[in-house]
Amino acid sequence: MDEANIRLQSMPEVRGIYLSILRLDLIDPVVSGNKWFKLKLNLQEALRQGYSSVLTFGGAHSNHLVATATAAKEAGLISIGIVRGFHGAQADTPTLVSCREAGMQLLFISREEYALKHDAAYLNGLKTRFNHPFIIPEGGANEWGRLGTEEIAGFIPADTTHVAVSVGTGTTFIGLRNALPPTISLLGFAPMKGGCYLEAEIKPFVKAEQDENWQIIDNFHFGGFGKTNSELLSFIQSFYATHQIPLDTVYTGKMMAGLQQFIADGYFPAGSRIVGIHTGGLQGNPAGLLPDSF
Ligand SMILES: *Cc1c(COP(=O)(O)O)cnc(C)c1O
Repeated sequence: MDEANIRLQSMPEVRGIYLSILRLDLIDPVVSGNKWFKLKLNLQEALRQGYSSVLTFGGAHSNHLVATATAAKEAGLISIGIVRGFHGAQADTPTLVSCREAGMQLLFISREEYALKHDAAYLNGLKTRFNHPFIIPEGGANEWGRLGTEEIAGFIPADTTHVAVSVGTGTTFIGLRNALPPTISLLGFAPMKGGCYLEAEIKPFVKAEQDENWQIIDNFHFGGFGKTNSELLSFIQSFYATHQIPLDTVYTGKMMAGLQQFIADGYFPAGSRIVGIHTGGLQGNPAGLLPDSF
């Protein structure tokens, strides 16, 4: 993981709109983007409290699961991954192969059991079974995750008018809203159907004095979470051909498609200086979508 690789890449100006992409994807090919910032303080805390292992949750394509496996290994911690559903159990997905390569021990559970991921008694059972690991919730969605992502605000120039980011659990969005000046407008692009439900999950964690100038946009889901269609795939390919920036199909492709549509629709006033956050996720892309190593 190398934060020194992070850079702000300016895009060609379009009718007085200045867009830059904050390339958090360049931190690491596997532990990309926001996942690193969500894990950083969690791993520090696990070490500080004397734990030797961490346990977390995710699906068979989860960026968070593989990021945890890789970052835990680098921190000298054992990792255990609780995987939702059995479809990855017969044949590992590329994400699960990478998890195992980083030494993560995997346990596949049913969707019903997975629904207990926040249940205290269930978590206690897992603690006993796996020799008392430090538990990181799915998506790194805890206090340390929210605090860690506040650091991302430090890469955003002071003259920025709008920041756009993709939202999954909303953890990164919360960190950004709490750390950016409230005058900067924050747009969260939801990659799932009906994603505006996230507003109610985000709000309790936003500091009262920062609780303004933010919204979730949920009409760029392209069929739903983890779903793609030909329109999205060709957008990602043409974006790469034009700007040489690889986007992923789950999060950043949808966010950039939405952002470009907003720009085309004249949503942003002339003179706007927008930062779109590239949160990474490239490890999960379908093989052959983009040329070279992407
Ligand atoms: C996990 C992820 C997100 C969502 O982050 P949250 O903090 O859960 O909202 C966005 N983009 C990418 C590439 C991700 O992997």
